[in-house]
Formats: sequence, structure tokens, C-alpha cells
Amino acid sequence: MSDIVILGGGFAAVWSAAAAARLLRQQGADRTVTLIAPGDDLVIRPRLYEADPATMRVPLDDVLKPIGVERSAGTATAVDTERRRVTVQGRDGDVSERSYERLVLATGSHLVRPDRLPGAERLHDVDTIEAAAALDEHLHALPAGPADGRFTAVVVGAGFTGLEIATELVGRLRAVAAPHGAEDQVRVVLVERADALGPELGPGPRPAITAALDELGVERRLGTSLSAVTEQGAELSDGVTIPARTVVWTAGVRASRLTEDVPAERDDLGRLLTDRFLRVPGVPGVYAAGDTAAAETEGDHRTMPSCQHALPLGRFAGHNVAADLLGLPPVPFAPDPYVTCLDLGSAGAVFTTGWDRRVQWTGETAKARKRTVNEDWIYPPTNDADEILRRADYRVSTRRPVKAGPA
Ligand SMILES: Cc1cc2nc3c(=O)[nH]c(=O)nc-3n(C[C@H](O)[C@H](O)[C@H](O)COP(=O)(O)OP(=O)(O)OC[C@H]3O[C@@H](n4cnc5c(N)ncnc54)[C@H](O)[C@@H]3O)c2cc1C
Repeated sequence: MSDIVILGGGFAAVWSAAAAARLLRQQGADRTVTLIAPGDDLVIRPRLYEADPATMRVPLDDVLKPIGVERSAGTATAVDTERRRVTVQGRDGDVSERSYERLVLATGSHLVRPDRLPGAERLHDVDTIEAAAALDEHLHALPAGPADGRFTAVVVGAGFTGLEIATELVGRLRAVAAPHGAEDQVRVVLVERADALGPELGPGPRPAITAALDELGVERRLGTSLSAVTEQGAELSDGVTIPARTVVWTAGVRASRLTEDVPAERDDLGRLLTDRFLRVPGVPGVYAAGDTAAAETEGDHRTMPSCQHALPLGRFAGHNVAADLLGLPPVPFAPDPYVTCLDLGSAGAVFTTGWDRRVQWTGETAKARKRTVNEDWIYPPTNDADEILRRADYRVSTRRPVKAGPA
């Protein structure tokens, strides 16, 4: 039996655990916090489009041990919210049940791969550290492979992830091709079913994105979808076949299947609709955070499945779940104002503010911001209990020092 069980090992889970531990410690409460996740690391998922993705991780024990959070390596296979029990399959295959007083569901999201598409097994993606590392290995093996389409990559989906990996692949493929005098063979083609780039990003950043793709020579095929992947390349819905050794799928995201075990309303991504305290309405003792949660924010908006929201969702959910256990009042979710920062490879980046995504910076200025986010702000402190607990305070911004508010 654990007092607070947190399912997941991503940003939302880690910060939920730290925030719960912080409040329990502050209140002198002798209660347990247990985090259950299959892996040993916090994967820095927003960086998986970059080179060397296998290094994008932080050992969970370096964050959790110093603050007294127990960690259990396993995969939750079911949640019974009536009996307040979680079924967990350990890494040795053993299945056990774990009871809880309060639960935070923070098992994240996953890419929806088109499994019925002919040749789907040939598709690469950058959704998990394993997939991103496999793509990296594949890129490095290209010089030894067949010549046709050797340094051509087709990226399917021109949303946030598709744009980041397509622009980054230009540089990564050039780095692989250059020692073989084949830099001029590098070709990246972006395939998008909609008639516009970045359909969900809106028109604001589109001119900056278009300029960056032009600068990098990334080709676009809009209003087109992928029909099949063969050994030779990508077959498109308009009948064109692009000889390509690399085809990367980026379209579609879905919340963890465990959200379906919680008898509550979900949105069309499968995320639980929480109240402003990140509780799941009608399901006592259950909170959701990160990509499993669609929380109200900034008026009538709902959080995005993003790292930007996963961190504060974790802090607020962790604080509130511990407050609930101790009979203290909860705090309403209040993240920093919404922004986006889209990496555009060696063409820089584009940084926008507001939900209508007004462009503030492009090029190197935006790129400097992106580097700060990717290389600093989203990493938790390690092996330093005081700093971990300080940053777990829901009033501490990922972007700036402490906000005003009651302790
Ligand atoms: C290539 C890429 C680029 C991105 N770029 C950005 C960006 O620029 N900005 C931004 O804000 N966001 C970005 N994102 C999105 C961001 O990474 C996610 O929104 C964020 O990681 C969500 O955090 P999370 O903790 O909710 O879930 P996740 O990071 O998905 O972590 C989920 C955790 O739960 C664990 N888990 C899963 N199932 C179970 C189970 N059954 N039992 C126990 N544990 C389980 C997983 O192992 C993992 O540890 C990007 C994502 C990708 C893939």
C-alpha cells in the first residue's frame, strides 16, 4: 500500500512526485510517494528529433532518491478506481496489485502509427528513445547501403514534430553524406495530407516556416498522403513514388490507454478532462497530469499535449494530490502563458506567444531560446534534494524565478 501512487516516468510524473514529496515534507507528514514506470530514465522526449538521441535521458533515481520517492520498475496494465488498486507487470513478468489512497495518472501519450499501411514496419519515428536511436543508427548506416535514394528522407506529417525532424534531418543527412562527397545528394521531402504547413499551428508562424524550408531546400507535397512504403521508397496518394531509404512517420498522437480505465469524460485524443485542480471529476482520489490530461487553462483553452504544460501540470497535480491526502485546500492550475518555439534546424527557429501564435522571434534569436528550453529548462536538477524540492514548488516557473503567492 502506498499513500500516493504516480503512474509514469515522464515530466508530469517526475514533477508530480517531487511536488507531492515537497508538500508532505513541508507539513512533516510521514506518507509514502511511489512512482511506477517501466524504464529507469526520464526521457527528454522533446529532443528526440536531434542528433544522438540515445543520450536524451536522466536517471530517475538521481531525481527521486534524494527526495525520498520510492520507485518501482513496472508497467501498469490496469487501474481499478473503485477498489483503488493498480495492476502492475514487473520487468520480470510478474503481475501484482498495488493499492493507493491517491493516484496521479501521468502515463503520457504515444504516436499512432498506421499499422495497416502497406510497408508500415519500414517506417521510422522519433516518438520514443528506442525509435529515435534506431533512426540515428539507420542514418549512420546509409553510406554502406544501396545508392538509389540513399540520402533522401521522406517525412510524413508537417505538424510540430514533422517540421522539427524534417529541418533537422537536412543537417543530419549532410553530416553523414559529407565524408563520402555526397552532400549534394541530400533531399528531404515533407508530405502533408492537409493543404497547409503546420495545420494546427495556424497561419501566424507559417511565413517563417516556409522561409526556413526554402532556405534548407526541404520540398513540400501538400494535400498528399502516404500510400505505402517499399524497400525503394515512399508511394504517395498522387501516384508519385519517391526513392528514399528513410521514411519518418510523425502524424497523430493518442493519450495512454490507461485513461480508458478511468470512468470519466475524455477528449478526442483520449485525454481525461480534469477540473481546475487537476482532479478527475466523479472519480475520487484520481488526478491526471501531462499528456493524459486536458486541463482548463488561460480562459477557455485546454492544455496542449506538450512538455510546456506537462511540467506545471505535474507540479500542480503533485501538490494537490498531497494536499488532498492531508486535508489542505487545493490550488487551481495556473501555468505560464502559452508560447511555442519550433526548431527549424540550421535555419533557426520560430518563437510565438499567445494561442493565436503571434511571431516574436525568428532565426538565431528564436534558436537561442530553443536551445535554452531543450538544454536547460526542461532538465530536472539531479542529486540535490533542496534544489529539486525548490523547483517542485508550483509557484516556480520553468522560465523565470518565483511567482508571487501564498506559501
Ligand atoms: C519529437 C518530439 C518533439 C517534441 N517537441 C516538443 C516541444 O518542442 N515542446 C513541447 O512542449 N513538447 C514537445 N513534445 C511533446 C512532449 O515531449 C510531451 O508532451 C511530453 O513528453 C509529455 O510528458 P508526459 O510526462 O505527460 O508524458 P511522456 O513524456 O509521454 O512520458 C510518459 C511516461 O509514462 C510511462 N508509461 C507509459 N505507459 C505506462 C504504463 N502503462 N505504466 C507505467 N508507466 C507508463 C512512460 O514510460 C514514460 O515514462 C515533443 C514530443 C516529441 C516526441
